[in-house]
Amino acid sequence: MRWFVVGIVVLATATACGNAAETAVSQPDRGTIGIAMPTTKSARWVGDGTNIKRQFELLGYQTDMQYAEDDVDKQISQISGMIKSGVEALVVGAIDGTALKDVLASAATADIPVISYDRLIRDTPNITYYATFDNFKVGVMQAGAIVKALKLTSTKGSDNVELFAGSADDNNATFFYNGAMSVLKPLIKSGRLRVVSGEVAFKTVATQRWDGAVAKKRMQRLLAGPLSGKRVDAVLSPYDGLTRGILEALEEKGYGKGAKKLPVTTGQDAELESVKLIVSGKQTETVYKDTRELAKVAVQMTNSLLLGGVPEVNDEKQYDNGVKVVPTFLLQPVNVDRSNYQRVLVDGGYYTADQLAG
Ligand code: BGC
Repeated sequence: MRWFVVGIVVLATATACGNAAETAVSQPDRGTIGIAMPTTKSARWVGDGTNIKRQFELLGYQTDMQYAEDDVDKQISQISGMIKSGVEALVVGAIDGTALKDVLASAATADIPVISYDRLIRDTPNITYYATFDNFKVGVMQAGAIVKALKLTSTKGSDNVELFAGSADDNNATFFYNGAMSVLKPLIKSGRLRVVSGEVAFKTVATQRWDGAVAKKRMQRLLAGPLSGKRVDAVLSPYDGLTRGILEALEEKGYGKGAKKLPVTTGQDAELESVKLIVSGKQTETVYKDTRELAKVAVQMTNSLLLGGVPEVNDEKQYDNGVKVVPTFLLQPVNVDRSNYQRVLVDGGYYTADQLAG
């Protein structure tokens, strides 16, 4: 276990869902922080919430954490309630990054700073800072995993790939897709890769609300239509939950049996279920983002702001939300596959060997 000194308390890193034993040093009551999270349906957001909450509490804050289960109106009303109850600050993992403009105007009127968490909140001047991972690089890594697994070079290979993107109302989805396409487009152009379905435009390949069932349906449609009788060599998927749906559709069509190998697949978040699929050889890759570190950055940003300081940032160019460029702290994602999951995820303390075996 690693230890970090933050302000005057010591925080320990825990496993993904935060089960480390910690002793909070007694702190003065510093008021309540509102934490608005998108959904409990994906393991990553449960881990984020647990870690953020715990770290605020270690610093002496109370927390009001609410999940909106991917219901945009519910998230707006949760945030509105937090503002009315007088929270000191808001940390928001948005569902629809374009829908929070009005509610955040009330936060500004009440002088409540807002940290945009992981997903950029758009079209409003009323976010103070942004904490996230290098989202473009996530896509570059996913596409790189396809190129590596197919052993494609600019002159060698010719394979069939299908493309999936995330939810169009999540700013990250465009970054992931653009990052991936920066690698794949030249290969598609030169004929090294073929998108048999012809579906390439972001809007066409986007998956509403990052829903695995929606991705599964689209894959089923492609397999029954344009891909019928064709080989699928790789599928670009931006998130583990979508990849699981895509794999189900492929397995229904006999992929993974006998000579009909499952295609190369990518993902994101190193979700436990998906890491197991990587270990068993069904999924090729995931992009691991240590959400314990992201939680720590967001908590430190908020704490520093509330103590009158200036939070540390390392990117003041990339994240224009349509109104302003938001000062951002970017963390680095890590490519994970069968060759390094043990070192990165188990030795790194994100999962225990027992969790992966279970
Ligand atoms: C996050 C990803 C996550 C996706 C679906 C994105 O905004 O950055 O880590 O896979 O949402 O929850």
